[in-house]
Amino acid sequence: MRLAGRVALVTGAGRGIGRGIALGYAREGADVVLVSRTASELEHAAADVRATGVRALTLTADVRDEAAVEAAVAAALDHFGQIDVLVNSAGIPMVAATTELSLERWHDAIGINLTGTFLCCRAVGRAMLARGRGSIINIGSLHSFQGIPQRAAYAASKGGVLQFTRALAVEWAPHGVRVNMIAPGWIRTPLQDALVAAGKLDRAPIIARTPARRVGEIADLVGPAVFLASDESAFIVGEMMVVDGGWGIYGYI
Ligand code: NDP
Repeated sequence: MRLAGRVALVTGAGRGIGRGIALGYAREGADVVLVSRTASELEHAAADVRATGVRALTLTADVRDEAAVEAAVAAALDHFGQIDVLVNSAGIPMVAATTELSLERWHDAIGINLTGTFLCCRAVGRAMLARGRGSIINIGSLHSFQGIPQRAAYAASKGGVLQFTRALAVEWAPHGVRVNMIAPGWIRTPLQDALVAAGKLDRAPIIARTPARRVGEIADLVGPAVFLASDESAFIVGEMMVVDGGWGIYGYI
């Protein structure tokens, strides 16, 4: 029960990594605010959270929408009185040859993955700074620091999340608010399933290159997310924690 008495707000909590982290936090005793655009998914996730014995609040918001984010954070603070942990997991993939990439899709990737992270950090951060405590975990990617063809918009957004995390971390650490980033490797989620189904991703070569010889599962990210949320990581500031089974550092063919 490393998060007992804490309140965590998780974006992208309706499915995938965000849902897994929300449930992992609940199992560690945290009350959870679940945010995404799809109410039905949030309600299913919240039922699982409540089944652990903690409280859950669901709020629909598009993280690109400044007013919606401000309203959701205000509602969460009104309901629970505090937010101790923020996880920014709301995100979309973007796979396209750059010459075919429309400006609209570019804005989608940057808007949700990067601007959404900024808006949620800013809104929750104000409340955390006022209390002088808090932990923020942004979900980046291997694309935050590596180049992969046909991912220019996604890489720009996730590279932005990495540098945003570092700059924010040094700005807020003196005031008791830690900001870190998890860079998940290739994780089996609805997002990845959709890319595979669309023929945009092949798991076989990924597994062949991964020293752990598998893709990641959502459960692989829960421990790191609990650790970064808890006081066990009190001196970790502005770090990137790569969770990829060794894919990123593998140096052979
Ligand atoms: P999923 O598609 O499974 O889940 C994404 C979640 O984000 C959903 O709950 C979705 O709900 C929500 N979301 C998407 N757009 C918005 C929006 N505009 N406003 C609010 N919520 C939104 O994705 P994953 O769980 O796989 O990915 C989670 C994060 O992890 C993303 O940032 C992704 O880039 C990152 N990541 C994933 C990897 C993987 O291999 N799966 C690898 C590395 C990073 P809704 O659509 O209803 O709003």
